[in-house]
Amino acid sequence: LKTATTFLKDRSDSHTPLHLQNFVSGDFTPTVSSSAGSWIDSFNPKTGALFAKVPCTQPDDVEAAVQAAKAAFPAWAKTSRVERSQYLQRISDLIKLDREKFAVWESIDQGKTLERARIEVDRAVANFSYFATYILHEQTAARMIDGVALTYEHRSPAGVFALISPWNMPLYLLTWKLAPCLAFGCTAVAKPSEITSMSAFLLGRVFQEAGLPRGVINIIFGDGPTTGAALVASPLVNGVSFTGGTETGIAIRQATAAQIGKHLSLELGGKNPTLVFSDSMLPEHRDRTIRIAASAAFENQGEICLCGSRIYVEKTMYDDFVRHFTDYVAKTYVLGQTVGAVASLQHYNKIRGYLQLAAKDGATFNLGGVPAALLPPDDDDITVISNSEERGYWIPPTTLTNVPLDSLVLKDEIFGPVVTISSFQDEQEAVSLANDSEYGLAAVLLTADGARMRRVGEQLEAGMVWVNSWLVRELGTPFGGMKNSGTGREGGDSSRDVFTVVRTMHLPS
Ligand code: NAD
Repeated sequence: LKTATTFLKDRSDSHTPLHLQNFVSGDFTPTVSSSAGSWIDSFNPKTGALFAKVPCTQPDDVEAAVQAAKAAFPAWAKTSRVERSQYLQRISDLIKLDREKFAVWESIDQGKTLERARIEVDRAVANFSYFATYILHEQTAARMIDGVALTYEHRSPAGVFALISPWNMPLYLLTWKLAPCLAFGCTAVAKPSEITSMSAFLLGRVFQEAGLPRGVINIIFGDGPTTGAALVASPLVNGVSFTGGTETGIAIRQATAAQIGKHLSLELGGKNPTLVFSDSMLPEHRDRTIRIAASAAFENQGEICLCGSRIYVEKTMYDDFVRHFTDYVAKTYVLGQTVGAVASLQHYNKIRGYLQLAAKDGATFNLGGVPAALLPPDDDDITVISNSEERGYWIPPTTLTNVPLDSLVLKDEIFGPVVTISSFQDEQEAVSLANDSEYGLAAVLLTADGARMRRVGEQLEAGMVWVNSWLVRELGTPFGGMKNSGTGREGGDSSRDVFTVVRTMHLPS
């Protein structure tokens, strides 16, 4: 097998920006559209260097991609489960074969460490292999009503989907949508974030090599207001699976409000609490507690929607926790080694703004500080590929104490390597502080008390609660949030609900 990415010929060291191309009807399309100059610059967050130009697909071209998905739908929907399963497994194998290439490009594009990127490629492989087997074992619910009628659920593929993903885990999150979409017989137009388009570009080649029928998956590039908005609004699109910010989720819901039958799955933002009870700081548990709270805060530079960015510690152990946590983070989360650069200049400046606010609100910086301002490169600079880390978007792990409870630092999603540490008096206050958020995506509960695990855990307003653990995932369990963190669930049977329509059949006996 020719590897999926040899066509890039090790361009990672090249000094000429790559020009990405849309993947529509099984081919890479050489030009953007008639609208000249619609290119988005893509920078390497570790150096600030321009390395790729991403087409900003205009509405006409978006519609052409949707038409391609629509044309491919009837035949794809009719393929057998076994056949679809084989395609998915082939795609999984091809990504695995190119693991290192995917990881290197993901790390260049997103800023994450190579090690973290490898973990995410492995998860992309698992996304396809999981749904490859899921569809072979899927069961239909049937019931007999009083011996007079047999009812059963008949499911069919829901149609053409818009799959839209964010920049924090580009390959991992896009494949989390692509795999079930294909498995359940739907076709799609996928649009990754304009900030991190590389891994989706590489996927087009994988789909070609897997022999996926033309038009089943189309990948287009571009920003939200031009490309994403045109895609979700297309009347030919039967469903939208979206992962990204809450504001964008609201915009998508509003834009599609009149298309009432359109399936919407919205996986949105979070501001997740980590609760540390004093029993979890007993000597036999302390190392585990610190390790979990720290990884929940700083994994992938804090750029995971599930990151625990608000830590609350029981008062009796507060000082102890702050001391051990700070020591551990300083040793374990090292910028440039275990911590990457944040994804974009705009995001760097957003995080920096919140750190300035923390300082203004009187917070104590136990680790980190307000980083220097970075200015956008001027036009002359943009054409020069620099390789200097001085221009990179580096924010060191930052721990904040003494943050006032009404500070926006404790309310807004910062989505970077920044964590606050506050205290609580008792269980009731712990629950109330944890739930004091517009979001409800995830929560971490650290305690050695078995009864408390359920008593407190079941009161938390969070779609996912991890007890003495974090980020452990079984791909069949429902994934999604409460409150402003989203609508619907994905994973296993929940993904089936997103990508299929149900008719309940009634047969007289
Ligand atoms: P974003 O909402 O700005 O963008 C996400 C995607 O939506 C991008 O592809 C963007 O181009 C597109 N988009 C923007 N405006 C659009 C519009 N009007 N119509 C259609 N598409 C549009 O989010 P982001 O900044 O890329 O990602 C960070 C956010 O994603 C954070 O809030 C994070 O919590 C969230 N996130 C959530 C999950 C989850 O599973 N709940 C997972 C990862 C990230």
